[in-house]
Amino acid sequence: MNNLQEAFEELVKDMYSAEKQVLKALPKAASASTSKDLIAGIEAHIKQTEQHVVRLEEIASRGGYKPSGKVCTAAKGIIEEQDEALSEHEKGPLLDAVLVCGCQKFEHYEIANYGTAVSWAKLLGLKEDLNALQETLTEEKETNQKLTDVADSTVNKAALSEMAGAR
Ligand code: FE
Ligand code: FE
Repeated sequence: MNNLQEAFEELVKDMYSAEKQVLKALPKAASASTSKDLIAGIEAHIKQTEQHVVRLEEIASRGGYKPSGKVCTAAKGIIEEQDEALSEHEKGPLLDAVLVCGCQKFEHYEIANYGTAVSWAKLLGLKEDLNALQETLTEEKETNQKLTDVADSTVNKAALSEMAGAR
Protein backbone atom coordinates (compact mmCIF):
# COMPACT_ATOMS: atom_id res chain seq x y z
CA MET A 1 0.00 0.00 0.00
CA ASN A 2 1.22 3.47 -0.90
CA ASN A 3 -1.15 5.94 0.65
CA LEU A 4 -3.72 6.47 3.37
CA GLN A 5 -6.62 5.58 1.07
CA GLU A 6 -5.05 2.18 0.38
CA ALA A 7 -4.23 1.67 4.04
CA PHE A 8 -7.89 2.41 4.82
CA GLU A 9 -9.03 -0.22 2.31
CA GLU A 10 -6.65 -2.78 3.80
CA LEU A 11 -8.04 -2.00 7.24
CA VAL A 12 -11.62 -2.48 6.00
CA LYS A 13 -10.65 -5.89 4.57
CA ASP A 14 -8.90 -6.83 7.78
CA MET A 15 -11.94 -5.92 9.88
CA TYR A 16 -14.24 -7.70 7.45
CA SER A 17 -12.27 -10.90 7.93
CA ALA A 18 -12.23 -10.40 11.70
CA GLU A 19 -16.02 -9.86 11.82
CA LYS A 20 -16.72 -12.91 9.66
CA GLN A 21 -14.48 -15.05 11.87
CA VAL A 22 -16.02 -13.86 15.12
CA LEU A 23 -19.50 -14.42 13.72
CA LYS A 24 -18.64 -18.13 13.64
CA ALA A 25 -16.91 -18.11 17.03
CA LEU A 26 -19.54 -16.25 19.08
CA PRO A 27 -22.24 -18.98 18.93
CA LYS A 28 -19.67 -21.48 20.21
CA ALA A 29 -18.86 -19.20 23.15
CA ALA A 30 -22.57 -18.72 23.91
CA SER A 31 -23.31 -22.43 23.93
CA ALA A 32 -20.29 -23.14 26.15
CA SER A 33 -21.43 -20.62 28.77
CA THR A 34 -23.57 -21.26 31.86
CA SER A 35 -24.11 -17.56 32.63
CA LYS A 36 -27.46 -16.31 31.35
CA ASP A 37 -26.17 -12.73 31.37
CA LEU A 38 -23.15 -13.69 29.30
CA ILE A 39 -25.26 -15.74 26.87
CA ALA A 40 -27.71 -12.86 26.44
CA GLY A 41 -24.83 -10.42 25.90
CA ILE A 42 -23.18 -12.63 23.29
CA GLU A 43 -26.47 -13.21 21.48
CA ALA A 44 -27.17 -9.48 21.33
CA HIS A 45 -23.68 -8.90 19.96
CA ILE A 46 -24.13 -11.56 17.26
CA LYS A 47 -27.02 -9.45 15.89
CA GLN A 48 -24.84 -6.32 15.98
CA THR A 49 -21.93 -8.15 14.38
CA GLU A 50 -24.14 -9.13 11.43
CA GLN A 51 -24.68 -5.39 10.92
CA HIS A 52 -20.95 -4.71 11.25
CA VAL A 53 -20.39 -7.09 8.34
CA VAL A 54 -23.06 -5.34 6.26
CA ARG A 55 -21.59 -1.89 7.01
CA LEU A 56 -18.14 -3.01 5.86
CA GLU A 57 -19.65 -4.45 2.67
CA GLU A 58 -21.34 -1.10 2.01
CA ILE A 59 -18.12 0.81 2.68
CA ALA A 60 -16.22 -1.41 0.25
CA SER A 61 -18.91 -1.12 -2.39
CA ARG A 62 -18.88 2.70 -2.11
CA GLY A 63 -15.11 2.54 -2.56
CA GLY A 64 -15.37 0.21 -5.55
CA TYR A 65 -13.47 -2.74 -4.09
CA LYS A 66 -14.28 -6.13 -2.56
CA PRO A 67 -14.01 -6.49 1.24
CA SER A 68 -13.08 -10.17 1.02
CA GLY A 69 -9.81 -11.85 0.15
CA LYS A 70 -7.78 -11.14 3.27
CA VAL A 71 -7.39 -13.24 6.41
CA CYS A 72 -7.03 -11.32 9.65
CA THR A 73 -4.40 -13.36 11.47
CA ALA A 74 -4.76 -11.39 14.70
CA ALA A 75 -8.45 -12.30 14.93
CA LYS A 76 -7.56 -15.88 14.09
CA GLY A 77 -5.11 -15.94 16.99
CA ILE A 78 -7.57 -14.57 19.54
CA ILE A 79 -10.19 -17.10 18.41
CA GLU A 80 -7.66 -19.96 18.57
CA GLU A 81 -6.94 -19.06 22.18
CA GLN A 82 -10.69 -19.06 22.89
CA ASP A 83 -10.94 -22.52 21.28
CA GLU A 84 -8.11 -23.75 23.51
CA ALA A 85 -9.94 -22.50 26.58
CA LEU A 86 -13.08 -24.28 25.40
CA SER A 87 -11.23 -27.57 25.08
CA GLU A 88 -9.32 -27.21 28.37
CA HIS A 89 -12.20 -26.37 30.71
CA GLU A 90 -15.46 -28.04 31.65
CA LYS A 91 -18.59 -25.93 31.39
CA GLY A 92 -18.99 -23.84 34.54
CA PRO A 93 -18.14 -20.58 36.32
CA LEU A 94 -14.40 -20.73 35.62
CA LEU A 95 -14.91 -21.23 31.89
CA ASP A 96 -17.45 -18.38 31.94
CA ALA A 97 -14.83 -16.07 33.45
CA VAL A 98 -12.24 -17.16 30.89
CA LEU A 99 -14.76 -16.68 28.06
CA VAL A 100 -15.48 -13.11 29.11
CA CYS A 101 -11.74 -12.43 29.02
CA GLY A 102 -11.48 -13.85 25.49
CA CYS A 103 -14.51 -11.89 24.29
CA GLN A 104 -13.03 -8.70 25.71
CA LYS A 105 -9.73 -9.30 23.93
CA PHE A 106 -11.69 -9.40 20.70
CA GLU A 107 -13.69 -6.25 21.48
CA HIS A 108 -10.50 -4.37 22.35
CA TYR A 109 -8.98 -5.47 19.07
CA GLU A 110 -12.04 -4.24 17.20
CA ILE A 111 -12.06 -0.95 19.12
CA ALA A 112 -8.43 -0.34 18.05
CA ASN A 113 -9.27 -1.03 14.41
CA TYR A 114 -12.51 0.90 14.25
CA GLY A 115 -11.01 3.80 16.19
CA THR A 116 -8.28 4.10 13.56
CA ALA A 117 -10.75 3.60 10.71
CA VAL A 118 -12.92 6.43 12.07
CA SER A 119 -10.03 8.91 12.13
CA TRP A 120 -8.80 7.88 8.69
CA ALA A 121 -12.30 8.11 7.18
CA LYS A 122 -12.57 11.61 8.64
CA LEU A 123 -9.25 12.69 7.09
CA LEU A 124 -10.11 11.11 3.74
CA GLY A 125 -13.46 12.92 3.63
CA LEU A 126 -15.49 9.67 3.53
CA LYS A 127 -18.52 10.98 5.30
CA GLU A 128 -20.91 8.02 4.95
CA ASP A 129 -18.14 5.60 5.85
CA LEU A 130 -17.29 7.70 8.86
CA ASN A 131 -20.87 7.53 10.17
CA ALA A 132 -21.11 3.78 9.64
CA LEU A 133 -17.75 3.11 11.31
CA GLN A 134 -18.62 5.38 14.22
CA GLU A 135 -21.83 3.41 14.81
CA THR A 136 -19.93 0.15 14.90
CA LEU A 137 -17.24 1.62 17.16
CA THR A 138 -19.91 2.72 19.63
CA GLU A 139 -21.42 -0.78 19.68
CA GLU A 140 -18.03 -2.42 20.24
CA LYS A 141 -17.35 -0.08 23.17
CA GLU A 142 -20.79 -0.72 24.65
CA THR A 143 -20.27 -4.47 24.31
CA ASN A 144 -16.91 -4.26 26.02
CA GLN A 145 -18.47 -2.33 28.89
CA LYS A 146 -21.32 -4.84 29.18
CA LEU A 147 -18.78 -7.65 29.39
CA THR A 148 -16.97 -5.82 32.18
CA ASP A 149 -20.30 -5.41 33.99
CA VAL A 150 -21.19 -9.11 33.62
CA ALA A 151 -17.75 -10.13 34.86
CA ASP A 152 -17.83 -7.78 37.85
CA SER A 153 -21.44 -8.38 38.86
CA THR A 154 -21.63 -12.19 38.61
CA VAL A 155 -19.21 -14.26 36.56
CA ASN A 156 -15.91 -13.56 38.33
CA LYS A 157 -17.41 -13.99 41.80
CA ALA A 158 -18.98 -17.29 40.77
CA ALA A 159 -15.58 -18.50 39.53
CA LEU A 160 -13.99 -17.48 42.83
CA SER A 161 -16.64 -19.13 45.02
CA GLU A 162 -16.37 -22.31 42.95
CA MET A 163 -12.70 -22.37 43.96
CA ALA A 164 -13.59 -21.80 47.64
CA GLY A 165 -16.16 -24.61 47.46
CA ALA A 166 -13.61 -27.04 46.08
CA ARG A 167 -11.12 -26.50 48.92
FE1 FE B 1 -17.77 -6.01 15.38
FE1 FE C 1 -17.46 -6.88 18.49
